[in-house]
This record gives sequence, structure tokens and C-alpha cells, in this order.
Amino acid sequence: MNPNTARFSRALVTALGPRKVVLDAERLHDYSKDESDSGVHLPDLLCLAESTQDVQTALRLSREYRVPVTACGARTGKSGGSIPLHGGLALSLERMNRIKEIAVADLVCVCEPGVVTGELMKAVEQKGLFYPPDPNSLETCTLGGNVAENAGGPRALKYGVTRDYVLGLEVVLVSGEVLRVGHRSIKGVAGYDLTGLMVGSEGTLGVVTEVTLQLLPLPRAVTTALLVFDKLRGAAEAVSAMLAEGILPRTLELLDQAAIGAVDGKAFHFPKGTRAAVILELDGDAEEPLFEQMERAAGVCERFGIRELLVAKDESQRRDLWAARRQVSTALRQIKPFKVSDDIAVPRSRIAEMVERIHEIGRRHDVVVASYGHAGDGNLHANFLYADEAERRRVDVAVREMLEATIAVGGTITGEHGVGLAKRAWLPLEQGPELIELQRRLKRVFDPEGLLNPGKMFRRQS
Ligand SMILES: Cc1cc2nc3c(=O)[nH]c(=O)nc-3n(C[C@H](O)[C@H](O)[C@H](O)COP(=O)(O)OP(=O)(O)OC[C@H]3O[C@@H](n4cnc5c(N)ncnc54)[C@H](O)[C@@H]3O)c2cc1C
Repeated sequence: MNPNTARFSRALVTALGPRKVVLDAERLHDYSKDESDSGVHLPDLLCLAESTQDVQTALRLSREYRVPVTACGARTGKSGGSIPLHGGLALSLERMNRIKEIAVADLVCVCEPGVVTGELMKAVEQKGLFYPPDPNSLETCTLGGNVAENAGGPRALKYGVTRDYVLGLEVVLVSGEVLRVGHRSIKGVAGYDLTGLMVGSEGTLGVVTEVTLQLLPLPRAVTTALLVFDKLRGAAEAVSAMLAEGILPRTLELLDQAAIGAVDGKAFHFPKGTRAAVILELDGDAEEPLFEQMERAAGVCERFGIRELLVAKDESQRRDLWAARRQVSTALRQIKPFKVSDDIAVPRSRIAEMVERIHEIGRRHDVVVASYGHAGDGNLHANFLYADEAERRRVDVAVREMLEATIAVGGTITGEHGVGLAKRAWLPLEQGPELIELQRRLKRVFDPEGLLNPGKMFRRQS
């Protein structure tokens, strides 16, 4: 720790007490990485904030001593967003995990940022309400991280992403000022949409200390099916075709052979020889219309070589199927220890073409590829697996080619994981210099010294 950071550290301990400040190297190591394989960067110290005032104090002192600060939730990010690239303070919101209010009459809830997403879902469901954004990491990730990344998930197909549910935020700026942006009503257009700006800002503009979220009534009926295909192309074409025929399930999740192989037999047994599959889930107020929609979906899939359609018989089968889906990302490490995990999004009509392209690029560069994900909204998780430096070099070439192909069909380099550290080199493929410079200027308005999550989204100098 350099002398200045050591002075900062002493000032922080004096202000917050030793219980909220961690200097122990072993514990700091846990805060040095996330789920993105973007490297390990140790913070100099960790603050476990318990209130908005703690966050204010930490930020004020960081600014006074010019020490970089990186906020974090559960560190499940897949773009390196919570990695303290330049050391300094890791500011964890995990202890701010209270659901402050669930207002049934307003269809609104107010939460601290460290609330685990799945915990909020369960709490609102007990009151007959529904919080739809469901990142597959929902059992561990936090609302603060979801807001900062504008997280999506399988249900985004029908219900949209985190941004669509954030009504208001309390945010602490690097100066220590507390801002309340947005509102509690469903509508509200006074002033610039600073809530919209904060959502997806990857912890680079301010630290979120409270989130006001919109809720929906809980759908009374849900039906889930596994659609088994002989060919990946057929499965991907069926996804676009179902949507084009006006069927709007809440999820249409695609799994290729590598993804299926990685999880088969764990939580769920896929039919023997499954080469590609789609998890289709429908919801609504009554079961009968869902059966009709399922039949229509099956009819469409017949044109694309569907082999089997297995409807989950009960809640436990549905849970097992989703458990398998949620394990894919981690299970792929059994094939190769490392991966570059991209989450491109393309217009829906280009899904099948893009899936094929990803595999063709993988074959050409002799790289193992797994593609799966929220195909219904065009968001594909393309994972390029590697074991050593030589493979990694081939992966980098393959990834660049895939991202260029994505942009060429009107897509984006990241549908939900964010730019962070992992994709900052690729941002110029999608955005011109003027747009990047405008965002850098915006960043300087909020954080003139560049202390908040430096080196993310754009290369430093921001
Ligand atoms: C198995 C697995 C499945 C996943 N599935 C999905 C998925 O389906 N959809 C999806 O979108 N993502 C998914 N993710 C990625 C990840 O879970 C999400 O990006 C999630 O939103 C991160 O939340 P977190 O609490 O872990 O945040 P962290 O990883 O701790 O932080 C992420 C970013 O948010 C910032 N941040 C955190 N808290 C705050 C705060 N209070 N104020 C300001 N900034 C803050 C950090 O600085 C960082 O930039 C998955 C990850 C894994 C490991």
C-alpha cells in the first residue's frame, strides 16, 4: 500500500470503525476478480458499507485522498466491472441488504442495493407480485449489480430488462452528495432521465444506495417445455419463426450440443443424443390458453425438425430444467478451464445465421465454442474455451471476427453483461469516436478526477 493509501485507510478506519474496513490479504483476494476471467487485481482495502452515510464517508475520503473506488455487489459480473483494476478501495454493498418496503397497492418495492435478486423475487411472490428480471445468477447477484449492469435474463423476451423496472434510485456521487433520481409513480418525465443514465452505468458515475422498483401481478399459470432438435440451425430458426407467428413466450432459451453436454445428467437428463434444445416457457392468467399456445408453438417447430417436445409435469421438473440451464456457464469450465464469454445481441431475424457463424468461426480457428442463451431476444452467449496461451491467442482472433460479424448484422457487442474491462477494447467496433468522447465528457461531469471504477468501459484517461 502506498503512503497516501495508508493515510486514507487510517482515516477510513477512524471514521467507520474497524468492523467495516478489511485489510486482511486473504479476504481482499475475494474482491479481486469476478466471473469474467478478466484477471486478478487486488484492492488495497475493502469497505463493507452498512448505510448510505457509510458510502458517503467512504467516497468523500476517497476523493480527499485521491484513492480509486470500485463498488461491488456479489461479484458475479461477466465483464470485469467489479474488479479494482487500479487497486484502491473495494466498496461492497453486500451488507446493505434490506427490503425496505413492498407496497402492494402501488405495485412498488424499495430495496437496498445488496438485496439478492432471487430473495426479492421470493418476497414479492409471497404477496402475489412479480419481479420479472431474472439473471441466471439470481441466487447470488444483487440488485445494485443488476442496476449497474442493466441485467437481463431469460424472461427479458416478454418482460424486458432491469431498466424497465427501475423507477427511482438513491445515488451517492464521488463528492459524497446524495442524489434521489426518478420517482415512485409509474410515469414521470420531469427533467432529464438521470435514472435511465444511471442504470447500466457500470458503477462509473455513482454508487447506488437505494432502488425503487416497479412490480407486476404474479402470473397465475406457467408452463415450461423442452424442445429437442436434431440440428442447431433448426432450433434457432424455430425461435425466430415462433416469434414471427405472434407467439410470445416468456422465455426461449437456446442450448447447443456443448452446453447440453456440460450439464446433462446433473440437475436434468436430456433425451439421448440431443444436439440442440430450446427451453420454452409460457405464462398467463389461466392454463387453457397456454396449452393452445404450446400447440401452436409445436406446429411451428415441426417445420424446423423438432424431435421431441417434453412438457414439465410439475414444479420440480421445471426447477430441474432451469437448474440445468443456470449451471451451463460454470459447467463449461469442465471442458476447458478458461473462457472468453461474450453476450452479443442481434436482430431476431438474424439469430440462426449468427449461431451458425459463431460455430463456423470456432471451427476455422480450431477453438471449442459453446453458444446458448436468451435466443428469443437475440442475445446469444458465445463462449470460446481455452486451456493455454496458444489457444487464447486463437480465441482473441475468433472473438474479434465474431464481434465484427455481429456489428455487420446490426447487433451489439454486449446485450446484458456490460463493457467493463473485458470488452472495453471492442467498444470502438460498435461506437464511433464522437460518441465515445461524449460519454467520456459525461463521466467527467460526475467524476472529474476519474476515481470511480477507473479503467472500465473506456480505456483510462476517462
Ligand atoms: C452463472 C451466471 C449467470 C449469469 N446470468 C446472467 C443473466 O442471465 N443476465 C445478466 O444480465 N447477467 C447475468 N450474469 C452476470 C451477472 O450476474 C450480472 O451482471 C449481475 O447484474 C451482477 O450483479 P453483482 O451483484 O454480482 O454485481 P458485481 O459483479 O459485483 O458488479 C457488477 C458491476 O456493478 C457495479 N456495482 C455493483 N453494485 C453497485 C452499486 N450499488 N452501485 C453502483 N455500481 C455497482 C460494479 O462496480 C460493477 O461494475 C450471470 C453471471 C453468472 C456467474
